[in-house]
Amino acid sequence: MKSYFRKEIDAMEGYVPGEQPKMENLCKLNTNENAFPPSPAVKEALASFDYGKLRRYPDPTADALRDRIAEEFGVARKNVIACNGSDDLLTMVFRSFTSPELAVACLHPTYSLYPELAKMQGAQVIPVALDAEHDFALPENLLEQAQGANLLILTRPNAPTGNSFPLAAMREICRKFDGVVLFDEAYADFADDNCLELAKEFDNVIVSRTFSKSYALAGLRLGFAIGHEKLIEGLFKVKDSYNLDMLTQALGLAAFSDRAYLKKRCEEIKAIRADFARRLAELGFRIVPSQANFLFAAPPDGDGERYFKELRSRAIIVRYFRGAVTGRYVRITIGTPAEMDRVIAATREIYGC
Ligand SMILES: *Cc1c(COP(=O)(O)O)cnc(C)c1O
Repeated sequence: MKSYFRKEIDAMEGYVPGEQPKMENLCKLNTNENAFPPSPAVKEALASFDYGKLRRYPDPTADALRDRIAEEFGVARKNVIACNGSDDLLTMVFRSFTSPELAVACLHPTYSLYPELAKMQGAQVIPVALDAEHDFALPENLLEQAQGANLLILTRPNAPTGNSFPLAAMREICRKFDGVVLFDEAYADFADDNCLELAKEFDNVIVSRTFSKSYALAGLRLGFAIGHEKLIEGLFKVKDSYNLDMLTQALGLAAFSDRAYLKKRCEEIKAIRADFARRLAELGFRIVPSQANFLFAAPPDGDGERYFKELRSRAIIVRYFRGAVTGRYVRITIGTPAEMDRVIAATREIYGC
């Protein structure tokens, strides 16, 4: 049959999200969802939500939510945009800043959605290879490699590697890069620092966040970004008019406002992460120092695929990324202490240690 699609779409394979398997006694550690439930404030907001309001369209600009976010981070409403998960923000960013003439530079390895979004735009991707021998550090000549790109995406902490990059180097990049710098900070709440100040300082910087990981609301679909008013104003032009439904705006506001709960849960997850990393290292694993709610870990024999399959046969689902470098590792979401115990027990069984 003749294809009616644009050639760019025909050439795409399409992004494949992490699987949501249905299994008995499943230990699901493959998509970096939160180990714990969302704030009880979300439950209250849900219970008191007046369903009759759904007759109306939602606020197209999510002002109540944006005001609360702006207040928390010391910016104005015009510096904030809310989105239907940060994937929605990424779509807006690619529509806005990439085209067949305008390339995007991103890390390698990194979040595999970016190249798919680039293909839809017919935009060239300039991969900036991380240094696999040094825990996936940034290359010294990043700016040279990214030169000519109109958009540079720095995923910080990075996925699937989990490491971060020095803040001073980030400032230098923002100052020198002749294009938009997007910091994808999906995991920033689990990290020691973040790039919010850079979004306030420079007119070419956007920082994006999501409610999917630290707020334990992956099912809700909510994210936001902060940047210079000119950048945010432009993103509003390409946004779906009603990208956020009314319920999401209400529940998101409740979740965001419970700062104490967010902090407490992130501290808990960081403590579990440290303990799990130590125990895996004791079993001979190579662990990339993580600033996120997951570990990128290579088993002693460097065969990530085998480890992935062995875990899977025990109903423990982690993420495996084929490739010369990434194939040595698996990515394991930080779960509850009991889930981590189960991974350790399975690992001992697999390697007889
Ligand atoms: C999970 C993730 C996102 C997407 O988050 P959603 O808000 O669920 O769309 C974006 N970037 C990175 C690097 C992620 O890991």
